[in-house]
Amino acid sequence: MPKFCGRWMIADYHTHTALCKHAQGDVEEYVRRAVDLGFDEIGCSDHVPLPGNYDERHRMTLEQYYSEYAPRVSGLIEKYRKQIRVKRGIECDFLDWAEGWNSKFIAENEFDFVIGSVHFVGPRGEEKPLFGRDYDKSELEALYEGYFLEIANSAKSGLFDIIAHCDIVKKFGKFSSARVEELQWEALSQVKKADLCIEINTSGLRKPELETYPGEKVLTLARDLKIPLTLGSDAHNPDQVGMDFGSAISLINKYGNGRISLFERRKRSEVNVSQLRGAA
Ligand SMILES: [Zn+2]
Ligand SMILES: [Zn+2]
Repeated sequence: MPKFCGRWMIADYHTHTALCKHAQGDVEEYVRRAVDLGFDEIGCSDHVPLPGNYDERHRMTLEQYYSEYAPRVSGLIEKYRKQIRVKRGIECDFLDWAEGWNSKFIAENEFDFVIGSVHFVGPRGEEKPLFGRDYDKSELEALYEGYFLEIANSAKSGLFDIIAHCDIVKKFGKFSSARVEELQWEALSQVKKADLCIEINTSGLRKPELETYPGEKVLTLARDLKIPLTLGSDAHNPDQVGMDFGSAISLINKYGNGRISLFERRKRSEVNVSQLRGAA
């Protein structure tokens, strides 16, 4: 059982920086924004470098990780120690062909938490990226099935602490079938079996579907399975830190028993989620 200390806290565990080439701002600007919001913790979780500079348009290189990102985060942990706990995280793509690389990279770095993400569906060379193109209705069934299978596989990989935005495939259009429902349940069952968290990612509220990732349908399954929850804005600029957390806190109360999970050196604890500063 994770430690539950009974304290009331709030944290944003999903943020990006300009290093990933599709976000703005230095990591310190994100930390400062979280301090201004009165947060207890801010998690830095830029995209993992991948072998052979795979998908280099959306991530830093390994060299940048070691020369810029890692020392920057370490410096900020110290610099802001009295104001906020800065947590060292990473958003790590689940790709079965990169499991060895990811496993070595994670082991070589002292992360507080590792977020596992499915951004590609399908085998190498035929993968469908979940960004940068649209899928039409005829493709949705295969995309949904492949996506939830990969979520299950990512949970089984043993690499991660938190599974990110676990129904983001819906941004290409809603699709459901008996098989998809079955795969969703199987995916969340694997998350539970591996004792992982899922995040409530508020970035979906900034997109046309206007729903958190996951939405209430998947959160209902998570509640049934007693899967613990974390909070993440998936901020791609500093102003988005903690964005829409009022809605997310309501979902934590409804689907997570009012508790969020926090991580330190990959050990999970639970606290009561606090209200946003200034909120009633
Ligand atoms: Zn992501
Ligand atoms: Zn992200």
